[in-house]
Amino acid sequence: MKYIPTIGIECHVQLATKTKLFSEVDNDARGKEPNSCVSPVDYALPGMLPRLNGEAVKFAIRAGRAMNCEINPSSRFDRKHYFYPDSPKGYQITQFYHPIIGEGFVDLASGTRVRIEHAHLEGDAGKLTHFMDYSLVDLNRVDTPLLEIVSMPDIHSAKDAHDYCHELWRLMIYAGVSHGDLYNGNMRFDINVSIAPEGSDELGTRAEVKNLNSFRSVERAVLYEIERQSKILDAGEKVAQETRGWSDDTGKTTSQRSKEEAKDYRYMPEPDLPPIRLSSDFIEAELEGFPLMPADYRGLFGESMKSDILEILLDYPQLMKKMHEVSEEDTGAVVLISNLFTSVLLAEEKAAEYLNDLPLTEDLVELSKMNAGKELSSTATKEVFLRLFDPQMRGRGTKQIAKELGLIQENDLSALETIVDAVLAKPETQKAQDDFRAGEEKVIGFLVGQVMKESQGKANPAAVQEILRGKLK
Ligand code: MN
Repeated sequence: MKYIPTIGIECHVQLATKTKLFSEVDNDARGKEPNSCVSPVDYALPGMLPRLNGEAVKFAIRAGRAMNCEINPSSRFDRKHYFYPDSPKGYQITQFYHPIIGEGFVDLASGTRVRIEHAHLEGDAGKLTHFMDYSLVDLNRVDTPLLEIVSMPDIHSAKDAHDYCHELWRLMIYAGVSHGDLYNGNMRFDINVSIAPEGSDELGTRAEVKNLNSFRSVERAVLYEIERQSKILDAGEKVAQETRGWSDDTGKTTSQRSKEEAKDYRYMPEPDLPPIRLSSDFIEAELEGFPLMPADYRGLFGESMKSDILEILLDYPQLMKKMHEVSEEDTGAVVLISNLFTSVLLAEEKAAEYLNDLPLTEDLVELSKMNAGKELSSTATKEVFLRLFDPQMRGRGTKQIAKELGLIQENDLSALETIVDAVLAKPETQKAQDDFRAGEEKVIGFLVGQVMKESQGKANPAAVQEILRGKLK
């Protein structure tokens, strides 16, 4: 039987605030000793009270805007109870009843629109490391601010699941709210997958796969679940509602526990934190000068750039910003510069460094003009382009750099003719000339080569060939 998959995704984004969600301790514990970034609030000493980090609220507003979401003027926190050594309080402070971010949507390059149900602020848990007969607790991550983004079940393929997670990552980077460091778990995805027979208007029972940390794992886990659940339904059996884990090594999901329900957590309003009230002035001030988002860039460049190049560049907000500046100066430069960014810059070993110090817009526009006017060959264009990343060279401007490197092609036809004549007058080219006249086309390459040598590589080979053919008729 043919089944249609339905997928909803919850994504936890680690916000890049300076301090934690409820204490003044350093929020960036990367490379630090276990339990070195913790305050008495985080390990829940009696009498310690949380205080909300305003920066996390501002980041939530920006993230909400990036996802076209409503920002709720009033929201508050709740306690979600569970007992586990990674949470000294015995509960997580989260937003269950009144989240800060309301409905919105994310548009994918494929045209799929994934609606956002809501997004809420909450504190992260600590980390347990298990050994043979004991476990160690590291509380560095406790109450790191997270934004949990909950999608509607609008995704119906593994590819769209992958692309949605990828797009969320871009949105968080563009909005400047997360480092987006997937390797260090800055974004973690939980996927809810169910399948139903084609044409059925009821959804199937869903399985939740938790804690995926890459777009690729999301895609693979969805494919695996579709196959697993199809086999169960084909055999006339029922899919169990449960939480499953994923292994990148085996490429399989495995049953972990039956799914808890909300009532198991005994949610209750958090009494230690007052509600968050956001005035429209406050929200507006935070969103002033909000940057362009990937969807805006798709609107701007959908016509002028090939979609595969555009989608590569969209992973680098600095490059998109620069492309925007270039296009405002000269729309004719878009194709060349976007090609150079993808095929030359991103292939460089030092690309990551270069991204933070891009060439001047005017230099890139000039480079495009020189290339279009055939003053620079394509090889020379690439060479000059890379020199523009050297801050010391950059100050001289594109034209001067090209001159100093002797890369400017001779396009002056009368100057070229003089050189061609000189070459044709040389005795060692006589045989080639006779051969060409006798119909041996190939020797034109030799003659062009001689002219290039005579011009010290500065002649435009296409122009040289045309002049030669005219003279040898
Ligand atoms: Mn959560």
